[in-house]
Amino acid sequence: TEYPNPTDPKKKTVVILGSGWASTSFLKSIDTDLYNVVVVSPRNYFLFTPLLPSCTVGTIDIRSLVEPIRFITRHKNNEVKVYEAECTEIDSEKKVITIVDNSEVKGDNATSTIAYDYLVVGIGAQSQTFGIKGVEEYGCFLKEVWDAQKIRTKLMDCIETAAFPGQSPEEIERLLHMVVVGGGPTGIEYAAELHDFLVEDLTHWYPELAGKIKITLVEAMPNVLPAFSKQLIDYTESTFKQQNIHLHTKTMVKEVKEKEIIVQGPDGVKESMPYGLLVWATGNTSRPLVKNLMAQYPETQNIRRGLAVDDWLRMAGTNDIYALGDATATKYAPTAQVAAQQGKYLARVFAQLHATEYYEAQVEEAATPEEKAKNMRRLQKAQDIKPFHYSHQGSLCYIGSDKAIADLPFGPGNLASGGVATYAFWRSAYISNLFSARNKWLVITDWTKKTFWGRDISRE
Ligand code: FAD
Ligand code: NAD
Repeated sequence: TEYPNPTDPKKKTVVILGSGWASTSFLKSIDTDLYNVVVVSPRNYFLFTPLLPSCTVGTIDIRSLVEPIRFITRHKNNEVKVYEAECTEIDSEKKVITIVDNSEVKGDNATSTIAYDYLVVGIGAQSQTFGIKGVEEYGCFLKEVWDAQKIRTKLMDCIETAAFPGQSPEEIERLLHMVVVGGGPTGIEYAAELHDFLVEDLTHWYPELAGKIKITLVEAMPNVLPAFSKQLIDYTESTFKQQNIHLHTKTMVKEVKEKEIIVQGPDGVKESMPYGLLVWATGNTSRPLVKNLMAQYPETQNIRRGLAVDDWLRMAGTNDIYALGDATATKYAPTAQVAAQQGKYLARVFAQLHATEYYEAQVEEAATPEEKAKNMRRLQKAQDIKPFHYSHQGSLCYIGSDKAIADLPFGPGNLASGGVATYAFWRSAYISNLFSARNKWLVITDWTKKTFWGRDISRE
């Protein structure tokens, strides 16, 4: 064919887009004896996002949270092709995708096409800015490895610049004002990590400056962490108060400039907030590729939040495209827990799809009525695919000073807990969920290292 395929012509080809929670979970479980599998992702690794906020201040090293995607593929029964590339176009009529090498090093050929029988879209989402002026240009997001690196570098730069001789008191105050926008779990965990870094390390390294560092969290709604139970919201807000993190609720950011943020408080008055570092964490929006795909199906794809899928994760309006994780708009929150469960589930759907085709052929070819009846029964069983069912394991969030909060399903109700003991639980839950034994070892080592020697303040 004109398209490169790692194919066994007898098998159908599944192309997986992305190497995040959803796609990696699917890849782990998909049976390569049944399908040819191709992975396309602009990053050649899986990232354990729940501990990413810890990388922004050096509590954990980034290398401890990533694992190459080839770590999974090399253990599969059959060869899986992995292309480090971005999918830029999906031609659902021809069943072909276009991929582009957007990395720094490019060969003579940086564009290609891949044909698929089934496409699995697990490309996640991107950070939401609501089109607010200046956010892209001056703010830092917190989603990928390079975001955490950028935040860490910029934070240390602000502090070193404040220490530069002759800096005016106002300029020092501005440079040392760290603003977080968005009181969801990402913003809260980042502010908490920053607080710990300030109290545990910066006070020793920069005794004359540390007292002037100010952390502010801006949230549009009346309170932070809307998805958590009321008592844990109150506990988080009071802990933040003790930690001297300034909380501005009911406050909207109107514009971001190079050195100041224009905010509008609950009284409707606009004011200027001079800042050194801005971390922007106001949730998700669809990636351009998802928007393009939706535009191809205007009748069925009309939820702006993401791809509409049925209970079997098939994209509405299509027969051969499946979608999962943050790229979709479902009744579930865009979390790693949901994405991982969907990935595992979808691999089972694919096993049943294969069985369906197999028994359809067997029914056709059956030599005797008995054989036909037997294969009919097997076919019916294969066709009976159970819809996706999400099992919630609970929500956790780190809030600083070795304290965490947890909402855990307990019988028919919910068990809410917060404090230092919950933090011990938080740690063990994340350790047990880390990708590999190597990751677990590295994270435990990072935590131990921090306990003995503190965090590293060198700029990257
Ligand atoms: P992602 O994990 O974002 O993966 C998307 C993949 O697609 C990436 O590999 C990306 O490189 C790739 N990609 C992007 N564009 C293209 C393209 N054009 N072509 C091909 N590939 C593409 N959830 C929890 O449940 N618990 C937590 O504690 C938690 N903590 C979090 C902390 C932070 C800081 C963040 C940012 C998120 C956290 N989440 C947590 C949410 C969780 O990370 C997401 O819900 C999850 O990553 C979604 O998985 P996904 O596979 O859909 O997307
Ligand atoms: P989010 O959508 O959970 O929270 C965004 C917050 O920003 C909301 O509180 C919202 O009211 C606020 N906001 C929106 N626009 C604003 C504006 N213009 N000005 C000020 N505030 C504004 O986003 P997130 O925290 O990035 O999380 C994304 C997803 O990842 C969620 O599903 C979350 O549950 C998950 N996550 C989970 C964890 C965890 O479990 N520990 C950690 C991080 C992320």
